[in-house]
Order: sequence, then structure tokens, then C-alpha cells
Amino acid sequence: MAEIVVVGGGIGGLAFARCASRAGHRVTVVERRESLESVGAGLVLSGAAVRAVARAGVGLGDVAQPIAGMLLRGPSGRRIEGRGKAVAIARPALAALLDPRELGVEVMLGLSPEGPPVAAGSDGGERRAEVALADGRVLEADLVVGADGLRSMVRSWVAPGRRVIDAGQLSWRAILPREAVPAGAGGASGSSAATETWDGQTRVGVVPLTEGRAYVFVVASAPVGSAPELPERSPSRESQWALDAVRALPAGEVLRHRLEELDRPAFGVEGAALLGDAAHAMTPNLGMGAAMAIGDAESLVSALERGVDGAVGRYARRRWPVVAPVRLGSRWLGRLAHSPGTLPRGARRALGLQARRPR
Ligand SMILES: Cc1cc2nc3c(=O)[nH]c(=O)nc-3n(C[C@H](O)[C@H](O)[C@H](O)COP(=O)(O)OP(=O)(O)OC[C@H]3O[C@@H](n4cnc5c(N)ncnc54)[C@H](O)[C@@H]3O)c2cc1C
Repeated sequence: MAEIVVVGGGIGGLAFARCASRAGHRVTVVERRESLESVGAGLVLSGAAVRAVARAGVGLGDVAQPIAGMLLRGPSGRRIEGRGKAVAIARPALAALLDPRELGVEVMLGLSPEGPPVAAGSDGGERRAEVALADGRVLEADLVVGADGLRSMVRSWVAPGRRVIDAGQLSWRAILPREAVPAGAGGASGSSAATETWDGQTRVGVVPLTEGRAYVFVVASAPVGSAPELPERSPSRESQWALDAVRALPAGEVLRHRLEELDRPAFGVEGAALLGDAAHAMTPNLGMGAAMAIGDAESLVSALERGVDGAVGRYARRRWPVVAPVRLGSRWLGRLAHSPGTLPRGARRALGLQARRPR
């Protein structure tokens, strides 16, 4: 049994806290926000992530909407269909279900570490670290886990020099209330498929949620330094309603973010692991960031089965080959969708995902 301090109570940190606590470790989560409640729009979770969440003791039950497939559409109506076992869920609902306090995990809110963990000698052969918190308290741990997101403080200590890269895209995300979603919408032909429409500049995604709601995301090309407004025209007529509905929402209900990623992954060093966005933030173009954070959490706990010594190395060796293709795939999908270059433009036209002339 190890004593573990987790910095960050987002999806990755909470999933790890649950898995580690169920495996018999003593876990404390330090979260700088005053509450574990999450703001956010929707999330698509892969089938593997849903199974990992179930193994962490969380049934998604009625709050997750099964997604029958993904329909990629161009301005001319050309369709590319994909199938999968993903679900869509509102992010606040997932964060609430992952709350690990019911398992005895201590969660310290409104707090952050003051500085890097310092060595605190050894206990039974295992090295221990001390983490000083901003309120003067000091936590002892066999392992510190940085689950503190894209601009991770823990990463700046254990893997300095990583850069956050701007992908040149801007996103708007919102959950549309039931009354804003037209009957039969929320997916293809009223089904539970998610749809995404492209025209080379703008993408509009509509993902059905439970209770008749829909998660809508809009992504626009946005070279570094530019700050485009929410586009007025959707790439296809079928998704214009979604764009108009997002525009009609109060500003506070629409999340606007530049899309960013980490230049290369970092899984940590002996005694201090990184997971989720802290380790390998990727663009959300494949919708896999949260799923990868949950997979990391489970994998790090399984690497701890043979003790803390060597666990971060075992974890890194397992996760690198899983995460690397997903982050590259996500980056390339974004470039295929938005790059003005001749090759991506030609590929979009060949696939029917870009019109010769704008609508
Ligand atoms: C536009 C967009 C759409 C997305 N869509 C999807 C999707 O459909 N499917 C999917 O799987 N993923 C999606 N993602 C990615 C997903 O949101 C992230 O990969 C995931 O939230 C990462 O979880 P995390 O726990 O690693 O980090 P975060 O969720 O960023 O959590 C980090 C936590 O650490 C806390 N923290 C930070 N610094 C400190 C500190 N110094 N001390 C204490 N606490 C600290 C923060 O307050 C936060 O609670 C999307 C991302 C974006 C931007």
C-alpha cells in the first residue's frame, strides 16, 4: 500500500484516485478550485474508457448516451460513416460520478503545492517525498501524481522544457437545452449518431446527449494572433440550426477555447508521475483526451502492483505506444480539416469534405 498525493482533481486525477483507492492505496487529492464540480460541455468517451470507468466502480447508467456512430459530412452532403461503442456524456455529470470521496479519498480543495516535492528520507526501502501546500500543511507521499492539466505545475518540475503549441484552431462548445434541439435532430436522421460537417474552414459537430439535449461544438481555423467570431454559416444546411442555437445562447453558456497541445509527452520520473493532459495534452479533434487520461489512471495503478519503485517507468513504457498514435492522429485530423495547404485541400475535395466554392 502506498501513500499517494494527486495534484489536480479533473477527470484524470479523480479516475486515478478511485482506481488507486480501490487497489488499497491511501490517496489525497489536492485541487486548486474550491469545488470538484466541473464546468464544461459534452465529452465523447470511447468504449475502452467506459469499461475503465466501470472498473473504477462507476456505472454511467442513464446519464450516458450511446453513440451509434460518427457521420462525417461535407458541404455537398457527401457522407463518411464510422461505427463504434462510444458514449456521450455531459462533463459535469462525469466529474460528479468520479468523485472519489465515497471511497475514503481525502480531497483538499482550494489548495495547490507551494513548490516541487522534496525528498523526505525513506520508509522500508521506499523513497518518500514531502509536498508543502500553500496553507503551510505538508503532505508525505511515496508517489506524487501530477494530474494538473495542460499547464501542469508538476510537469514544470519533473519534465521542464515542454512547450504548449497552438493548433491554429478555435472552438466554441455548448450543451443545448432540450427545447433548442429540433425534433429528429441531435444525430443523423434522428438516430443516435454524432455528426460533424466540414468545409475546410469551419467544422460543426452535433452529439446527442441524454434527456433530448445535444452537445454542439464549432471549430474554426484561427491562425495564431487572430480571434475570429463564431462563424455565421455552417458548412452544411443540416447543421445550420445548431450554429444558430449556439449563437442564441447567453455568452456565459458557450465555452470558447483556442486548441492547444503539448509538443511531446512526459510521463514523469521515479516518485512523480504525470497523467492526462499534464502528460500528453492533445488537440480534441479525435475526442480522446479524457479517454486517454482515464486509461493512464488505470495503467498507473496497475504499474504500482509491483511496488512504487520502478512504477513510473513501467507505466511510461505501457502508455507511450498507446498515447502516441492518438495524439498524432488528433493533430493530423485537425490539419486535414483546417489546413489551407494544397495537399489537405485536395484531400478534402477528393473526400467531398470541401466545396469548390463556399456555400
Ligand atoms: C474543446 C475541447 C473538447 C474536448 N472534447 C473531448 C471529448 O469529446 N472526449 C475526450 O475524451 N476528451 C475531450 N477533450 C479533452 C479533455 O477535456 C481533456 O483531455 C481532459 O479533461 C484531461 O483531463 P485531466 O484531468 O488530465 O486535466 P483537466 O481536466 O485539465 O484537470 C486538471 C485539474 O487540475 C487542477 N489544477 C491545475 N493546476 C493545479 C495546481 N497547481 N494545484 C492543484 N490543482 C491544479 C485544475 O483545476 C483541474 O481541475 C476536449 C478538450 C477540449 C479543449
